[in-house]
Amino acid sequence: MLFQLTILGTSSALPTSNRYPTAQVLHVPGRFFLIDCGEGTQTQMRKYKIGFSKINHIFISHLHGDHIFGLIGLISTMVLLGRINDLHIYSHSELQKFLLPQLQFLYAEEIPFKIIYHPLNFKKEQKIFEDKKVTVYSFPLSHRIPTCGFRFEEKPVLPNLIPAKIEEYQIPIRDRQRIKEGGDFIASNGQLILHSELTTNKHQARSFAFCSDTRYDESYIESIRNVDLLYHEATFAEDNRELAQSTYHSTGKDAATVALKAQVGKLIIGHFSARYKDHTIILKEAQAIFPNTKAISEGEVFQVEKVIGH
Ligand SMILES: [Zn+2]
Repeated sequence: MLFQLTILGTSSALPTSNRYPTAQVLHVPGRFFLIDCGEGTQTQMRKYKIGFSKINHIFISHLHGDHIFGLIGLISTMVLLGRINDLHIYSHSELQKFLLPQLQFLYAEEIPFKIIYHPLNFKKEQKIFEDKKVTVYSFPLSHRIPTCGFRFEEKPVLPNLIPAKIEEYQIPIRDRQRIKEGGDFIASNGQLILHSELTTNKHQARSFAFCSDTRYDESYIESIRNVDLLYHEATFAEDNRELAQSTYHSTGKDAATVALKAQVGKLIIGHFSARYKDHTIILKEAQAIFPNTKAISEGEVFQVEKVIGH
């Protein structure tokens, strides 16, 4: 099953000529979750072929401009395209103070779809979304203003019964669900047939966590422990460690230390400061601590997958 992350923006607050601020889309079959919405997100969605009407859930980590300035443009386009489906936004409750006056100014009458605001909890981890395929949690990070990270967990899918085994052991329909859920089977001759012999390989549920923006803080490590893919901001290299501290941001080394302590499968880093024309130094410092690290770039697509040995 698809569990795929598309990077729309990799930069931090100040504009650059070749990078966009934070926005990512997680694609699970039938669902496109937009995570943060920096300026130009809708342009990037066009470029990387992500349909506007497919976005029903938007997760906003915090209310700094480089994470929310794309919202009014995107919502206006949704209005122009005649959207009628509800749009769910998970964010600090104050987001409404920012969005509603703009929407009222632009659209004297009500817009033709509902925006449903879901306030985040900045004190503790919270389940914020659940359906048949995915569960989403928010958890507090450590930034200058209230900020949350997000964890997306795929739900496990039951294994299939092997048709030849159903035939061989004449497994009645009434027993099949129980076997799928982990049970064994006693054949008519009294022989015990183990679940593992009767079913295809067990599907391993995958997970992705998003951490932006935050300074190094071990308080959120439990919320991201063992995820298969971790995105963590790495605004600076060690040459700007003091700036990282004073602006509540992380260095590549910080991101990698978090990834190592949380025992994640793979780390991707971004939110690079505009002062780095080339972010190789940030990446190198991260890889020295957590080798399976990659620096993200616009348009890049990552499959969330189990890392061998993880
Ligand atoms: Zn930011």
